[in-house]
Amino acid sequence: MPSYKLVSRDNHPQNTVIKLGTAQIGKGTTIIAGPCAVENRETMHRLASSLSSLGVHILRGGAYKPRTSPYSFDGLGKEGLKILAEARKYSGLPIITELTDVRHIDLLCAYADIIQVGSRNMQNFSLLKELGRVNHPVMLKRGLSATLEEWLLAAEYIMAEGNHNIILCERGIRSFDSYTRNTFDINAVPAIKNLSHLPLIADPSHGTGRRELVAPVAKAALAAGADGIMVEVHPQPAQALSDGQQSLTLDEMAQMMAQLKSVAPQLAG
Ligand code: PEP
Ligand code: MN
Repeated sequence: MPSYKLVSRDNHPQNTVIKLGTAQIGKGTTIIAGPCAVENRETMHRLASSLSSLGVHILRGGAYKPRTSPYSFDGLGKEGLKILAEARKYSGLPIITELTDVRHIDLLCAYADIIQVGSRNMQNFSLLKELGRVNHPVMLKRGLSATLEEWLLAAEYIMAEGNHNIILCERGIRSFDSYTRNTFDINAVPAIKNLSHLPLIADPSHGTGRRELVAPVAKAALAAGADGIMVEVHPQPAQALSDGQQSLTLDEMAQMMAQLKSVAPQLAG
């Protein structure tokens, strides 16, 4: 008997579907795209309108960035949230952004449509409990080396406090191979869909860390049953302030969108 209950498919056989803008996350295929970090107004606006015309459903961008080094760019903070909210108005796309500190929860609820909990905070239990007390959709990324059970128990923390609007995101796990940044765990996709009723989004950008691997891994994840993908896109990846090496250009994003139709025919419309 699994130690999680509320997130289990045994308890709730039908898929949870979260409706947001034109997306029904958990039904069909949802595409989330945008830069790793919000860098400036011009780039964000340009990306928002281009991504919207490519058929993307939700815009991403970090305003508070957890960075491995304390000397790296860690986001524009509140200014970044304002730029994202303008981009939403401009493009009509809902926005997702990361919460890194429980003290920012009200601010994030005021600006974001979906609150992302990053890998590094997957087991920040006080943060999870607070997110359980709001009604906002939360996207919970898998921890760097979390087992499926630990990940589902982290989701259970949120749900046990009353928030049932949870999306899971597989973003790769640590392995011994340093060729890729992480190892995208394709097994996790059908396994999580069997174990839980929650929607599952795949992140092949962090899952691989290499631009040329993003489209093939995105296709594999959708073919394995993921409810959508989240990818990083930047107009000039070489100049990106974070994660440029795994960010697609807009042309590459357009090419990938065309390829995804083979595994997600409903994107064709
Ligand atoms: C991100 O989505 O930019 C991010 C920091 O992801 P992760 O928590 O998966 O590393
Ligand atoms: Mn990133």
